[in-house]
Amino acid sequence: MVSQQHSVFREIPSVNDCIDWLVASGTCDDIPLQRLKFCIRHYIENVRQSLVTNQGTGALLSERQRLFDGLARFVRQYHRVGMQHVINGTGVIIHTNLGRSLLPMAAVDALNAVCARYVNLELNLDTGKRGSRYQHVEGLLCELTGAESALVVNNNAAAVLLALETLANGKEVIVSRGQLVEIGGSFRIPDIMRRSGARLIEVGATNRTHLDDYQQAITNDTGLLLRVHCSNYRIVGFTSAVSAVDLVRLGKEHGLPVMEDLGSGCLIDLSRFGLIKEPTVQDAVAGGVDIVTFSGDKLLGGPQAGILVGKKQYIDQIKKNPLNRALRIDKLTLVALESVLRLYLDESRALLEIPTLALIALSEEILAERARALCERCRALMADYAVFTVQSTWSQVGGGAMPEQNLASWAVAVAPFAMKINQLERRLRQASIPVIGKVESDRLLFDLRTIAADEIDAMLASLQAALEPDRGTESGNLA
Ligand SMILES: *Cc1c(COP(=O)(O)O)cnc(C)c1O
Repeated sequence: MVSQQHSVFREIPSVNDCIDWLVASGTCDDIPLQRLKFCIRHYIENVRQSLVTNQGTGALLSERQRLFDGLARFVRQYHRVGMQHVINGTGVIIHTNLGRSLLPMAAVDALNAVCARYVNLELNLDTGKRGSRYQHVEGLLCELTGAESALVVNNNAAAVLLALETLANGKEVIVSRGQLVEIGGSFRIPDIMRRSGARLIEVGATNRTHLDDYQQAITNDTGLLLRVHCSNYRIVGFTSAVSAVDLVRLGKEHGLPVMEDLGSGCLIDLSRFGLIKEPTVQDAVAGGVDIVTFSGDKLLGGPQAGILVGKKQYIDQIKKNPLNRALRIDKLTLVALESVLRLYLDESRALLEIPTLALIALSEEILAERARALCERCRALMADYAVFTVQSTWSQVGGGAMPEQNLASWAVAVAPFAMKINQLERRLRQASIPVIGKVESDRLLFDLRTIAADEIDAMLASLQAALEPDRGTESGNLA
Protein backbone atom coordinates (compact mmCIF):
# COMPACT_ATOMS: atom_id res chain seq x y z
CA MET A 1 0.00 0.00 0.00
CA VAL A 2 2.68 2.46 1.12
CA SER A 3 5.04 1.57 -1.71
CA GLN A 4 2.19 1.84 -4.17
CA GLN A 5 1.50 5.36 -2.94
CA HIS A 6 5.15 6.29 -3.29
CA SER A 7 5.21 5.21 -6.89
CA VAL A 8 2.06 7.22 -7.53
CA PHE A 9 3.65 10.33 -6.01
CA ARG A 10 6.64 9.91 -8.30
CA GLU A 11 4.33 10.30 -11.26
CA ILE A 12 3.33 13.82 -10.30
CA PRO A 13 4.91 16.09 -12.94
CA SER A 14 7.69 18.43 -11.86
CA VAL A 15 7.32 22.21 -11.82
CA ASN A 16 9.55 22.37 -14.90
CA ASP A 17 7.44 19.79 -16.76
CA CYS A 18 4.39 21.91 -16.01
CA ILE A 19 6.05 25.14 -17.17
CA ASP A 20 7.19 23.47 -20.40
CA TRP A 21 3.68 22.21 -21.07
CA LEU A 22 2.02 25.56 -20.30
CA VAL A 23 4.49 27.39 -22.54
CA ALA A 24 4.01 24.90 -25.37
CA SER A 25 0.22 25.08 -25.03
CA GLY A 26 0.28 28.87 -25.36
CA THR A 27 -2.66 29.13 -22.95
CA CYS A 28 -0.91 31.28 -20.37
CA ASP A 29 1.38 33.51 -22.44
CA ASP A 30 0.20 36.67 -20.70
CA ILE A 31 0.99 35.40 -17.20
CA PRO A 32 4.34 36.25 -15.58
CA LEU A 33 6.62 33.26 -14.89
CA GLN A 34 6.73 34.11 -11.20
CA ARG A 35 2.98 33.68 -10.94
CA LEU A 36 2.98 30.53 -13.10
CA LYS A 37 5.43 28.89 -10.70
CA PHE A 38 3.33 29.97 -7.72
CA CYS A 39 0.18 28.49 -9.25
CA ILE A 40 1.89 25.28 -10.32
CA ARG A 41 3.21 24.64 -6.80
CA HIS A 42 -0.27 25.26 -5.46
CA TYR A 43 -1.84 22.93 -8.03
CA ILE A 44 0.70 20.17 -7.46
CA GLU A 45 0.08 20.43 -3.73
CA ASN A 46 -3.65 20.01 -4.42
CA VAL A 47 -2.91 16.90 -6.50
CA ARG A 48 -0.69 15.52 -3.72
CA GLN A 49 -3.39 16.17 -1.13
CA SER A 50 -6.07 14.52 -3.19
CA LEU A 51 -3.82 11.50 -3.66
CA VAL A 52 -3.43 11.21 0.08
CA THR A 53 -7.14 11.49 0.77
CA ASN A 54 -8.59 9.97 -2.39
CA GLN A 55 -6.84 7.03 -4.07
CA GLY A 56 -9.22 7.26 -7.02
CA THR A 57 -7.43 10.37 -8.26
CA GLY A 58 -4.37 8.25 -8.97
CA ALA A 59 -5.90 7.25 -12.26
CA LEU A 60 -5.69 10.89 -13.33
CA LEU A 61 -1.92 10.76 -13.23
CA SER A 62 -1.91 8.35 -16.11
CA GLU A 63 -3.88 10.91 -18.09
CA ARG A 64 -1.29 13.66 -18.22
CA GLN A 65 -3.38 15.61 -20.68
CA ARG A 66 -6.26 15.91 -18.25
CA LEU A 67 -3.91 16.87 -15.47
CA PHE A 68 -2.34 19.64 -17.57
CA ASP A 69 -5.73 20.83 -18.80
CA GLY A 70 -6.82 21.10 -15.19
CA LEU A 71 -3.64 23.05 -14.44
CA ALA A 72 -4.25 25.48 -17.29
CA ARG A 73 -7.81 26.10 -16.06
CA PHE A 74 -6.56 26.58 -12.51
CA VAL A 75 -3.92 29.10 -13.61
CA ARG A 76 -6.38 31.06 -15.78
CA GLN A 77 -8.92 31.13 -12.95
CA TYR A 78 -6.28 32.26 -10.48
CA HIS A 79 -5.07 35.01 -12.80
CA ARG A 80 -8.53 36.49 -13.24
CA VAL A 81 -8.76 40.15 -12.31
CA GLY A 82 -10.29 40.53 -8.85
CA MET A 83 -12.83 43.27 -9.42
CA GLN A 84 -14.67 42.84 -12.68
CA HIS A 85 -17.80 43.72 -14.57
CA VAL A 86 -20.85 41.84 -13.23
CA ILE A 87 -24.29 41.94 -14.85
CA ASN A 88 -26.93 42.80 -12.26
CA GLY A 89 -30.19 40.98 -12.99
CA THR A 90 -31.45 41.31 -9.42
CA GLY A 91 -33.42 44.52 -10.00
CA VAL A 92 -31.85 46.02 -6.88
CA ILE A 93 -30.62 49.42 -8.08
CA ILE A 94 -28.31 50.40 -5.21
CA HIS A 95 -26.92 46.90 -4.64
CA THR A 96 -24.33 47.04 -1.87
CA ASN A 97 -22.61 43.79 -2.93
CA LEU A 98 -22.48 44.94 -6.53
CA GLY A 99 -20.98 48.35 -5.85
CA ARG A 100 -24.01 50.55 -5.05
CA SER A 101 -24.48 53.45 -7.47
CA LEU A 102 -23.17 53.49 -11.04
CA LEU A 103 -21.29 56.60 -12.02
CA PRO A 104 -22.72 58.76 -14.79
CA MET A 105 -20.65 58.98 -17.98
CA ALA A 106 -19.88 62.62 -17.14
CA ALA A 107 -18.04 61.41 -14.05
CA VAL A 108 -16.22 58.69 -15.97
CA ASP A 109 -15.09 61.27 -18.54
CA ALA A 110 -13.95 63.63 -15.79
CA LEU A 111 -11.94 60.82 -14.19
CA ASN A 112 -10.40 59.94 -17.54
CA ALA A 113 -9.42 63.53 -18.16
CA VAL A 114 -7.49 64.01 -14.94
CA CYS A 115 -6.59 60.60 -13.47
CA ALA A 116 -3.15 60.40 -15.03
CA ARG A 117 -2.45 64.13 -14.73
CA TYR A 118 -1.50 66.59 -12.05
CA VAL A 119 -4.50 68.50 -10.77
CA ASN A 120 -5.14 71.61 -8.66
CA LEU A 121 -6.30 69.42 -5.76
CA GLU A 122 -4.99 71.74 -3.06
CA LEU A 123 -3.79 74.68 -5.11
CA ASN A 124 -5.83 77.83 -5.44
CA LEU A 125 -5.26 78.84 -9.05
CA ASP A 126 -6.35 82.44 -8.41
CA THR A 127 -3.98 83.19 -5.57
CA GLY A 128 -1.28 80.62 -6.27
CA LYS A 129 -1.46 79.69 -2.60
CA ARG A 130 -2.37 76.42 -0.97
CA GLY A 131 -6.07 75.77 -1.37
CA SER A 132 -8.49 73.33 0.21
CA ARG A 133 -9.43 70.07 -1.46
CA TYR A 134 -13.02 70.81 -0.46
CA GLN A 135 -13.09 73.99 -2.60
CA HIS A 136 -14.10 71.88 -5.62
CA VAL A 137 -17.40 70.72 -4.14
CA GLU A 138 -18.20 72.99 -1.22
CA GLY A 139 -19.70 75.76 -3.33
CA LEU A 140 -21.78 73.30 -5.33
CA LEU A 141 -23.10 71.60 -2.21
CA CYS A 142 -24.10 74.94 -0.67
CA GLU A 143 -25.73 76.05 -3.92
CA LEU A 144 -27.71 72.83 -4.28
CA THR A 145 -28.80 72.39 -0.67
CA GLY A 146 -29.07 75.97 0.59
CA ALA A 147 -26.57 75.23 3.36
CA GLU A 148 -23.99 77.75 4.63
CA SER A 149 -21.12 75.34 4.56
CA ALA A 150 -20.14 71.82 3.52
CA LEU A 151 -17.48 69.14 3.96
CA VAL A 152 -16.94 65.72 2.40
CA VAL A 153 -15.23 62.66 3.86
CA ASN A 154 -14.70 59.02 2.93
CA ASN A 155 -18.26 57.79 3.58
CA ASN A 156 -21.32 58.64 5.62
CA ALA A 157 -20.30 56.41 8.53
CA ALA A 158 -17.15 58.54 8.76
CA ALA A 159 -19.23 61.73 8.49
CA VAL A 160 -21.38 60.69 11.46
CA LEU A 161 -18.37 59.61 13.52
CA LEU A 162 -16.51 62.84 12.77
CA ALA A 163 -19.46 65.09 13.58
CA LEU A 164 -20.19 63.29 16.86
CA GLU A 165 -16.54 63.29 17.87
CA THR A 166 -16.25 67.02 17.19
CA LEU A 167 -19.48 68.21 18.75
CA ALA A 168 -20.26 65.72 21.48
CA ASN A 169 -17.09 63.94 22.69
CA GLY A 170 -17.49 63.63 26.46
CA LYS A 171 -21.06 64.87 26.24
CA GLU A 172 -24.52 63.38 25.96
CA VAL A 173 -26.37 62.92 22.69
CA ILE A 174 -30.14 62.49 22.79
CA VAL A 175 -31.66 60.08 20.25
CA SER A 176 -35.11 58.55 19.90
CA ARG A 177 -35.30 54.80 20.63
CA GLY A 178 -37.03 54.38 17.29
CA GLN A 179 -33.96 55.66 15.45
CA LEU A 180 -31.14 53.48 16.78
CA VAL A 181 -30.38 52.22 13.29
CA GLU A 182 -28.08 49.42 12.22
CA ILE A 183 -26.91 49.53 8.61
CA GLY A 184 -25.32 46.57 6.87
CA GLY A 185 -24.46 44.75 10.09
CA SER A 186 -21.46 46.83 11.12
CA PHE A 187 -22.65 50.42 11.32
CA ARG A 188 -24.80 50.90 14.39
CA ILE A 189 -25.66 54.26 15.87
CA PRO A 190 -24.96 53.12 19.48
CA ASP A 191 -21.55 51.70 18.49
CA ILE A 192 -20.46 54.71 16.46
CA MET A 193 -21.62 56.90 19.32
CA ARG A 194 -19.41 55.02 21.80
CA ARG A 195 -16.42 55.29 19.46
CA SER A 196 -16.90 59.03 19.19
CA GLY A 197 -16.69 59.39 22.96
CA ALA A 198 -20.27 60.64 23.15
CA ARG A 199 -22.79 59.16 25.56
CA LEU A 200 -26.02 57.94 24.05
CA ILE A 201 -29.18 58.99 25.83
CA GLU A 202 -32.13 57.04 24.43
CA VAL A 203 -35.53 58.61 24.79
CA GLY A 204 -39.11 57.65 24.02
CA ALA A 205 -40.37 54.21 23.08
CA THR A 206 -39.59 52.22 19.94
CA ASN A 207 -42.79 53.30 18.21
CA ARG A 208 -43.42 56.71 19.76
CA THR A 209 -41.21 59.56 20.87
CA HIS A 210 -42.49 63.02 21.81
CA LEU A 211 -40.84 66.42 22.12
CA ASP A 212 -41.28 66.14 25.90
CA ASP A 213 -39.07 63.08 25.94
CA TYR A 214 -36.17 65.06 24.46
CA GLN A 215 -36.88 68.04 26.67
CA GLN A 216 -36.81 66.04 29.89
CA ALA A 217 -33.53 64.36 28.92
CA ILE A 218 -31.65 67.64 28.43
CA THR A 219 -29.05 68.27 31.15
CA ASN A 220 -25.92 70.39 31.51
CA ASP A 221 -24.00 67.54 29.88
CA THR A 222 -26.09 67.46 26.72
CA GLY A 223 -24.05 68.28 23.61
CA LEU A 224 -26.30 67.41 20.70
CA LEU A 225 -29.80 66.39 19.64
CA LEU A 226 -29.65 63.73 16.93
CA ARG A 227 -32.20 62.51 14.43
CA VAL A 228 -31.44 59.44 12.33
CA HIS A 229 -33.39 58.62 9.21
CA CYS A 230 -34.82 55.08 9.40
CA SER A 231 -33.44 54.39 5.95
CA ASN A 232 -33.69 50.61 5.90
CA TYR A 233 -36.79 49.95 8.01
CA ARG A 234 -40.12 51.49 8.89
CA ILE A 235 -42.01 51.62 12.12
CA VAL A 236 -45.67 51.41 11.19
CA GLY A 237 -48.93 51.46 13.11
CA PHE A 238 -49.29 53.49 16.31
CA THR A 239 -46.27 55.73 15.77
CA SER A 240 -45.08 59.22 16.44
CA ALA A 241 -41.75 60.93 15.84
CA VAL A 242 -40.63 64.47 16.49
CA SER A 243 -40.18 66.53 13.32
CA ALA A 244 -36.87 68.13 12.51
CA VAL A 245 -38.47 71.56 12.81
CA ASP A 246 -39.73 70.90 16.36
CA LEU A 247 -36.40 69.47 17.39
CA VAL A 248 -34.60 72.50 15.96
CA ARG A 249 -36.87 74.79 18.02
CA LEU A 250 -36.07 72.81 21.17
CA GLY A 251 -32.36 72.92 20.34
CA LYS A 252 -32.48 76.70 19.92
CA GLU A 253 -34.20 77.14 23.30
CA HIS A 254 -31.35 75.28 24.98
CA GLY A 255 -28.47 76.45 22.80
CA LEU A 256 -27.92 72.92 21.46
CA PRO A 257 -27.05 71.95 17.90
CA VAL A 258 -29.32 69.51 16.07
CA MET A 259 -27.89 66.94 13.70
CA GLU A 260 -29.71 64.72 11.23
CA ASP A 261 -28.19 61.62 9.63
CA LEU A 262 -30.25 61.31 6.46
CA GLY A 263 -28.53 58.16 5.22
CA SER A 264 -29.40 58.23 1.56
CA GLY A 265 -29.49 61.94 1.08
CA CYS A 266 -31.73 62.65 -1.84
CA LEU A 267 -31.55 66.01 -3.62
CA ILE A 268 -34.64 65.44 -5.76
CA ASP A 269 -38.14 64.62 -4.56
CA LEU A 270 -38.78 61.19 -6.09
CA SER A 271 -42.47 60.97 -5.16
CA ARG A 272 -43.26 61.77 -8.81
CA PHE A 273 -42.15 58.19 -9.62
CA GLY A 274 -44.71 56.74 -7.27
CA LEU A 275 -42.27 56.49 -4.40
CA ILE A 276 -43.07 57.70 -0.89
CA LYS A 277 -41.50 61.10 -0.34
CA GLU A 278 -38.08 60.78 1.26
CA PRO A 279 -36.93 63.87 3.13
CA THR A 280 -34.55 65.76 0.84
CA VAL A 281 -31.35 67.37 2.01
CA GLN A 282 -32.83 70.77 1.13
CA ASP A 283 -35.82 70.07 3.41
CA ALA A 284 -33.53 69.32 6.34
CA VAL A 285 -31.41 72.42 5.72
CA ALA A 286 -34.47 74.64 5.28
CA GLY A 287 -35.89 73.19 8.51
CA GLY A 288 -32.90 74.66 10.33
CA VAL A 289 -31.00 71.43 11.07
CA ASP A 290 -27.46 72.46 12.01
CA ILE A 291 -25.57 69.48 10.55
CA VAL A 292 -26.97 67.12 7.90
CA THR A 293 -25.02 64.02 6.88
CA PHE A 294 -25.62 61.67 3.91
CA SER A 295 -23.96 59.19 1.56
CA GLY A 296 -22.51 59.96 -1.86
CA ASP A 297 -23.29 56.59 -3.41
CA LYS A 298 -26.87 55.90 -2.38
CA LEU A 299 -29.72 57.98 -3.85
CA LEU A 300 -27.36 60.80 -4.74
CA GLY A 301 -25.94 58.43 -7.35
CA GLY A 302 -22.28 59.40 -7.03
CA PRO A 303 -19.07 57.83 -5.74
CA GLN A 304 -18.65 56.53 -2.19
CA ALA A 305 -18.44 59.59 0.04
CA GLY A 306 -19.86 61.08 3.21
CA ILE A 307 -21.25 64.58 2.88
CA LEU A 308 -21.84 67.04 5.72
CA VAL A 309 -23.73 70.26 5.10
CA GLY A 310 -25.01 72.83 7.56
CA LYS A 311 -24.17 75.87 9.67
CA LYS A 312 -20.73 77.32 9.12
CA GLN A 313 -19.94 77.54 12.84
CA TYR A 314 -20.27 73.76 13.24
CA ILE A 315 -18.84 72.67 9.88
CA ASP A 316 -15.76 74.84 10.59
CA GLN A 317 -15.23 73.04 13.90
CA ILE A 318 -15.61 69.68 12.18
CA LYS A 319 -13.10 70.67 9.47
CA LYS A 320 -10.49 71.46 12.13
CA ASN A 321 -10.82 68.08 13.86
CA PRO A 322 -7.56 66.09 13.33
CA LEU A 323 -9.75 63.02 12.77
CA ASN A 324 -10.93 64.70 9.56
CA ARG A 325 -7.42 64.21 8.12
CA ALA A 326 -7.71 60.46 8.75
CA LEU A 327 -11.11 60.24 7.10
CA ARG A 328 -10.41 62.53 4.18
CA ILE A 329 -11.73 61.97 0.71
CA ASP A 330 -9.32 61.20 -2.13
CA LYS A 331 -8.90 63.11 -5.37
CA LEU A 332 -10.53 60.50 -7.62
CA THR A 333 -13.67 60.54 -5.51
CA LEU A 334 -13.66 64.34 -5.51
CA VAL A 335 -13.40 64.48 -9.29
CA ALA A 336 -16.35 62.08 -9.65
CA LEU A 337 -18.40 63.80 -6.95
CA GLU A 338 -17.90 67.25 -8.47
CA SER A 339 -19.14 66.10 -11.87
CA VAL A 340 -22.18 64.33 -10.37
CA LEU A 341 -23.09 67.44 -8.35
CA ARG A 342 -22.75 69.58 -11.49
CA LEU A 343 -25.41 67.42 -13.15
CA TYR A 344 -27.82 68.36 -10.34
CA LEU A 345 -27.58 72.01 -11.41
CA ASP A 346 -30.08 71.00 -14.10
CA GLU A 347 -32.63 68.64 -12.53
CA SER A 348 -33.87 67.20 -15.81
CA ARG A 349 -30.29 66.41 -16.81
CA ALA A 350 -29.68 64.76 -13.43
CA LEU A 351 -32.71 62.51 -13.88
CA LEU A 352 -31.53 61.44 -17.34
CA GLU A 353 -27.81 61.05 -16.79
CA ILE A 354 -27.39 59.81 -13.22
CA PRO A 355 -27.93 56.04 -13.52
CA THR A 356 -29.39 55.59 -10.04
CA LEU A 357 -32.12 58.13 -10.81
CA ALA A 358 -32.60 57.05 -14.42
CA LEU A 359 -33.11 53.41 -13.35
CA ILE A 360 -35.71 54.44 -10.76
CA ALA A 361 -37.49 56.45 -13.45
CA LEU A 362 -37.55 53.65 -16.09
CA SER A 363 -41.16 53.02 -17.06
CA GLU A 364 -42.86 49.66 -16.78
CA GLU A 365 -43.75 49.75 -20.50
CA ILE A 366 -40.13 50.10 -21.57
CA LEU A 367 -39.11 47.29 -19.22
CA ALA A 368 -41.86 45.01 -20.54
CA GLU A 369 -40.71 45.67 -24.08
CA ARG A 370 -37.07 44.91 -23.20
CA ALA A 371 -38.11 41.73 -21.40
CA ARG A 372 -40.06 40.51 -24.43
CA ALA A 373 -37.11 41.24 -26.75
CA LEU A 374 -34.65 39.44 -24.46
CA CYS A 375 -36.99 36.49 -24.07
CA GLU A 376 -37.26 36.08 -27.84
CA ARG A 377 -33.49 36.10 -28.26
CA CYS A 378 -33.13 33.54 -25.46
CA ARG A 379 -35.68 31.26 -27.10
CA ALA A 380 -34.00 31.58 -30.50
CA LEU A 381 -30.63 30.62 -29.05
CA MET A 382 -31.37 28.23 -26.19
CA ALA A 383 -34.82 26.68 -26.59
CA ASP A 384 -33.20 23.23 -26.34
CA TYR A 385 -31.89 23.90 -22.87
CA ALA A 386 -34.55 25.80 -20.97
CA VAL A 387 -37.99 27.34 -20.93
CA PHE A 388 -37.95 31.13 -21.12
CA THR A 389 -40.89 33.28 -20.05
CA VAL A 390 -41.61 36.96 -19.57
CA GLN A 391 -42.99 37.79 -16.16
CA SER A 392 -43.75 40.80 -14.02
CA THR A 393 -41.62 41.37 -10.96
CA TRP A 394 -40.64 44.04 -8.42
CA SER A 395 -37.41 46.02 -8.47
CA GLN A 396 -36.01 47.63 -5.35
CA VAL A 397 -34.16 50.87 -4.78
CA GLY A 398 -31.78 49.09 -2.36
CA GLY A 399 -28.85 50.51 -0.42
CA GLY A 400 -31.03 50.73 2.64
CA ALA A 401 -33.11 53.36 0.88
CA MET A 402 -36.90 53.26 0.68
CA PRO A 403 -37.15 49.81 2.26
CA GLU A 404 -40.68 48.69 1.62
CA GLN A 405 -41.18 50.43 -1.67
CA ASN A 406 -41.20 48.26 -4.74
CA LEU A 407 -41.01 49.39 -8.35
CA ALA A 408 -43.13 47.42 -10.81
CA SER A 409 -40.84 45.81 -13.37
CA TRP A 410 -40.45 42.96 -15.89
CA ALA A 411 -38.12 40.01 -16.00
CA VAL A 412 -37.14 37.05 -18.13
CA ALA A 413 -37.47 33.81 -16.14
CA VAL A 414 -35.31 30.77 -17.02
CA ALA A 415 -36.25 27.21 -16.09
CA PRO A 416 -33.45 24.87 -17.28
CA PHE A 417 -34.25 21.31 -18.40
CA ALA A 418 -31.09 19.52 -17.38
CA MET A 419 -29.81 21.19 -14.25
CA LYS A 420 -30.93 22.41 -10.86
CA ILE A 421 -31.61 26.10 -10.48
CA ASN A 422 -28.77 26.58 -7.98
CA GLN A 423 -26.38 24.93 -10.42
CA LEU A 424 -27.36 27.44 -13.11
CA GLU A 425 -27.06 30.25 -10.57
CA ARG A 426 -23.50 29.11 -9.70
CA ARG A 427 -22.43 28.66 -13.31
CA LEU A 428 -23.64 32.16 -14.16
CA ARG A 429 -21.83 33.57 -11.16
CA GLN A 430 -18.61 31.94 -12.37
CA ALA A 431 -19.01 32.87 -16.03
CA SER A 432 -16.32 35.03 -17.61
CA ILE A 433 -18.80 37.90 -17.40
CA PRO A 434 -20.80 36.90 -14.31
CA VAL A 435 -24.56 37.35 -14.31
CA ILE A 436 -26.45 37.60 -11.02
CA GLY A 437 -30.17 36.88 -11.08
CA LYS A 438 -32.76 36.20 -8.42
CA VAL A 439 -33.94 32.69 -7.67
CA GLU A 440 -37.69 32.29 -7.39
CA SER A 441 -38.60 28.67 -6.60
CA ASP A 442 -37.50 26.67 -9.66
CA ARG A 443 -36.66 29.62 -11.88
CA LEU A 444 -33.94 32.19 -12.23
CA LEU A 445 -35.21 35.70 -12.94
CA PHE A 446 -33.42 38.56 -14.66
CA ASP A 447 -35.01 41.91 -13.93
CA LEU A 448 -34.50 44.16 -16.96
CA ARG A 449 -34.38 47.33 -14.84
CA THR A 450 -30.76 46.85 -13.80
CA ILE A 451 -29.49 45.32 -17.05
CA ALA A 452 -28.18 47.89 -19.53
CA ALA A 453 -29.01 47.53 -23.23
CA ASP A 454 -25.32 47.14 -24.06
CA GLU A 455 -24.98 44.25 -21.61
CA ILE A 456 -27.51 42.01 -23.35
CA ASP A 457 -25.07 40.34 -25.78
CA ALA A 458 -22.63 39.50 -23.00
CA MET A 459 -25.47 38.23 -20.86
CA LEU A 460 -26.68 35.92 -23.62
CA ALA A 461 -23.15 34.58 -24.09
CA SER A 462 -22.81 33.84 -20.38
CA LEU A 463 -26.23 32.22 -20.27
CA GLN A 464 -25.48 30.07 -23.30
CA ALA A 465 -22.19 28.88 -21.84
CA ALA A 466 -23.84 28.12 -18.51
CA LEU A 467 -26.70 26.13 -20.01
CA GLU A 468 -24.57 24.03 -22.36
CA PRO A 469 -24.46 20.66 -20.64
CA ASP A 470 -21.01 19.43 -21.74
CA ARG A 471 -18.98 22.50 -21.01
CA GLY A 472 -15.72 21.68 -19.11
CA THR A 473 -15.69 22.15 -15.35
CA GLU A 474 -14.67 25.64 -14.25
CA SER A 475 -12.96 24.68 -11.08
CA GLY A 476 -9.26 23.91 -11.06
CA ASN A 477 -9.71 21.20 -8.45
CA LEU A 478 -9.31 17.62 -9.51
CA ALA A 479 -12.17 16.36 -7.41
C1 LIG B 1 -26.18 54.07 4.75
C2 LIG B 1 -26.31 54.83 6.00
C3 LIG B 1 -25.16 55.19 6.73
C4 LIG B 1 -23.78 54.79 6.30
O1 LIG B 1 -23.43 55.42 5.11
P1 LIG B 1 -22.16 54.90 4.27
O2 LIG B 1 -22.00 55.91 3.19
O3 LIG B 1 -22.49 53.54 3.81
O4 LIG B 1 -20.99 54.90 5.21
C5 LIG B 1 -25.32 55.91 7.88
N1 LIG B 1 -26.56 56.26 8.32
C6 LIG B 1 -27.68 55.93 7.65
C7 LIG B 1 -29.02 56.34 8.21
C8 LIG B 1 -27.60 55.20 6.46
O5 LIG B 1 -28.71 54.86 5.79
